[in-house]
Amino acid sequence: MKTAFNIHTLVRDNIKSLQPYSSARDEYKDASSDNMIFLDANENPFENGVNRYPDPQQNKVKDLLSTTKKIAKENILLGNGSDEVLDLIFRVFCEPNKDNIITLPPTYGMYGVLANINAIENRKVLLKDEFQPDSDQILSTTDKNTKLIFLCSPNNPTGNSFKPEIIEVLLTKFKGLIILDEAYIDFSKKESWLSKLNQFPNLIITQTLSKAYGLAGIRLGICYASKEIIKFLNNIKPPYNVNHLTQQRALKRLKSFDEVTNEIEQLISERKRLKQELECCVSYIEKVYPSDGNFLLIKVDDANKRYQQLIEYGVVIRNRTNQPLCENCLRISVGICEENQKLIRALKAIQ
Ligand SMILES: *Cc1c(COP(=O)(O)O)cnc(C)c1O
Repeated sequence: MKTAFNIHTLVRDNIKSLQPYSSARDEYKDASSDNMIFLDANENPFENGVNRYPDPQQNKVKDLLSTTKKIAKENILLGNGSDEVLDLIFRVFCEPNKDNIITLPPTYGMYGVLANINAIENRKVLLKDEFQPDSDQILSTTDKNTKLIFLCSPNNPTGNSFKPEIIEVLLTKFKGLIILDEAYIDFSKKESWLSKLNQFPNLIITQTLSKAYGLAGIRLGICYASKEIIKFLNNIKPPYNVNHLTQQRALKRLKSFDEVTNEIEQLISERKRLKQELECCVSYIEKVYPSDGNFLLIKVDDANKRYQQLIEYGVVIRNRTNQPLCENCLRISVGICEENQKLIRALKAIQ
C-alpha cells in the first residue's frame, strides 16, 4: 500500500485559501418554491423561460447522472464542455511557471494548449508499441512538481484503449493526479474506470455529451472525482458555467436512453463495416488501426495528397500527418451510412 494520499499537498496555496464567490442562488437555494418571490438577483422578472439565472449546481442533471452512473452527486462536477473541466483542473492544481504535467502524444491537443495557457511545462512521453503508454518512462519523467498525467482512453487520434494494467500501475505509483479522459468510452466495449473511482483517490475521470450523446453544440462536460477534488473545482468554477438551455437539453437526452444506445450501436456497426471496406478495397491504405472510438485512424501512401483529393470530392477528414508517430495518417469520423458510402466511393475514385 502506498502512503495515505492527501489532496491538500497538491492544491495551489491561493486556491486553498480562496473565498469562493457566493451567488444569489447559492445564498437562497430553494428557487423552485412556488410561494416565494425572487427579488435577489437583479433579474428581469418578466417570464420568458430563461429570464432567471440557471441552477449553479445543475442539480437535476447531476441527480440523473448520479442514478444512471451509480455514483454520488458529490463526486460529479459539470462544465461548459470537458475543455472547461480540464482548465479548472489546471487552475486548482498547477502553479504557473513552476509545476509540470505529462502528456502522451499522439493525443488530444487541448491538454498541451491548456498547459501553455496556464504557463505549465508539458513533458511529452511518446506512446510506445501499439500506441500504449510506457509506464516506466512516464514515471521516470515525473519530479516533485509533476501534478497531472493525462491519459486519453480510448485515445484520440489513435482510437485504441490503454491497457488497464498500465493505467493501474500509474494510478498506484504516481503521487499526483491521473486525468483519465473517457470522451469516447461509450463507443468502447471496454469498461469505464468510473466503478473504480473510490479505489483511487488520485483518479479524475472526464466524460462529455459531445460525442456519443450527440450534443456537441450545447457544451456539457462531466468530471468524476473524489468529493474533496470536486469541492476544490466547484470553488473556482464560474457560478453559472452551465446555462439553462444546456441543462434542459442534457436532461432530455439523458432520459432518451434507448435513442442514444441505438445511435451508438449503429455507429459501432458502421465503424466495423467501414474498417473492412477500407482494408480490403483501397490500395493506397496501408493500415487501418483498431478503434474503440467513433473514428478510424488510417495510414496511407501520402496523407497530404489524399486529404486534398478527398476535399475535391466534398469529403473533409482530419489530416494527422504532423502528429508524432502519425506520419501519413488520416483520421476519419464515422458518419451515417450514406456518408460512409460517399466516403468509400471517393476513396476508391482517387486510387
Ligand atoms: C472531443 C473530445 C473531448 C470533448 O470535449 P468537449 O469540450 O466536451 O466537447 C474531450 N476529450 C477528447 C479526447 C476529445 O476528443
